[in-house]
Amino acid sequence: MDQENNNNNKLHVAIISSPGMGHLLPVLLLGNRLATHHPLHVTILAVSTQTSPVESQLFNSHTDSTCINLIKIPSPDISNLLQPDDTVVTQLAIMMREARTSIRSAIFAMCPRPNVLVADLFSSESLPIANEFHMQKYVYVPCNARFVALTMYLPILDKLVKGQYVDQTEPLRIPGCVPVQAKDVPDPMLDRNNRQYHEYVQMGVNFTTLCDGILLNTWRDLDRTTMDVLKTDETLRAVVKAPVYDIGPLTREADPPGLEGNKVIEWLDMQPLESVIFVSFGSGGTLSGKQITELAWGLELSGQRFVWVIRPPAGGSVKDGTFFTAGSGPYGPPDFLPEGFLDRTRDKGLIVPLWAPQVRILNHKSVGGFLTHCGLNSVYESVRGGVPMIAWPLYSEQRLNATLLIDELRVAIRPVMCPAEKEVERDEIEDMVKTLMEGEEGKKMRKNVKSLRESGNQALMINGSSYKSMCEFITRCQLKI
Ligand code: UDP
Repeated sequence: MDQENNNNNKLHVAIISSPGMGHLLPVLLLGNRLATHHPLHVTILAVSTQTSPVESQLFNSHTDSTCINLIKIPSPDISNLLQPDDTVVTQLAIMMREARTSIRSAIFAMCPRPNVLVADLFSSESLPIANEFHMQKYVYVPCNARFVALTMYLPILDKLVKGQYVDQTEPLRIPGCVPVQAKDVPDPMLDRNNRQYHEYVQMGVNFTTLCDGILLNTWRDLDRTTMDVLKTDETLRAVVKAPVYDIGPLTREADPPGLEGNKVIEWLDMQPLESVIFVSFGSGGTLSGKQITELAWGLELSGQRFVWVIRPPAGGSVKDGTFFTAGSGPYGPPDFLPEGFLDRTRDKGLIVPLWAPQVRILNHKSVGGFLTHCGLNSVYESVRGGVPMIAWPLYSEQRLNATLLIDELRVAIRPVMCPAEKEVERDEIEDMVKTLMEGEEGKKMRKNVKSLRESGNQALMINGSSYKSMCEFITRCQLKI
């Protein structure tokens, strides 16, 4: 056993996080789970731009934690490597590639040195650093199993499929898995000529060639079909090779300190049971001005109560929140809302500018529905709150998440056309909100989501499927130190 790596035989796991709330959060959740439920040493190597105040808040709220050690790695300057039309995926891939020197230095300086290196979605190119220090190497993908199967099979699809994926008339076939419809492919597959596509194919290559195993933030009952296939289908196993561990649902139990949003909670306290629909599009999702107007009309026409986290339209700007303070009402009417909307909905709705305490809201007894962009954290938080959804996918792998929620799990409904392709009109929004909040279908979905919540809770309990899976991962690591 390597003495330098050994500290009272406790396994020491280092996890790399790429910048952004949506990446840091899953890594913190994994770190906390490992450190509190399986006593291990955990160090998080967080590459951070800290441009978002919420990210800094999240970061700082964990710095004092005794369970995990947090090392902040400043993001490298990549401005001279970027092209004007590079997407966030390309920027992150380049940033994490350039951060490898600092990540290596941080690991080199650690004493005791970790036994295991876990890379997140965008940092898999750092895994070869683990070889230098005789560490084991894993990837952590906080996404559903279907996304992981698609990503790992992509290098093969890249050779098999001619032309753009979005132009295929037949769905994409991955051995054993439910076929992926062209309309559901993740953003990097929308245009094979864009740099982000090549970064994504490379990610698939890294997952299948560079790691000793893959951890997934999912659980057996959520992703049963694909998890079984990922573990047992011979054709897919020939590609995936490394063991796959379903260890979720890892999700937040509270909002970061300072973001508890007591005003919203006080308002919710006064509303009837399961009567409010919560509307939010994640940490950065924005809609067009026209879509915001249609959504406002749809909510108003539905006659249902709502809490809506609102941001300026795509392309608009906000300065210190002043965008929301001109005019009357608690925050003032933004000019893209229909005239008189705030007055007419005063007793039914609450507009929250920019950010709301989502975890508290989804766990509040008055909340009975969630109109969500289907980011995975939001989806799991909704399941944890026992709240059925209207799926409104905007970007990234959200269309795949939506399909799983609607077609397999039956805990969500969605507009006929994907909102990223065509603006959803007020009548359709009105119908969906009514169906979710007061229709028979809504009741069934509420029942389904509550039993899904139960299965997620069970999975994490001692002897639950995810608990056992995490123990298998840890035992495998321990045997190799
Ligand atoms: N979030 C929040 N308040 C908001 C918007 C977002 O607390 O007003 C949190 C939300 O609870 C979730 C995360 O931000 O934990 C968003 O992650 P998700 O994966 O849903 O979407 P992303 O922002 O990565 O697209």
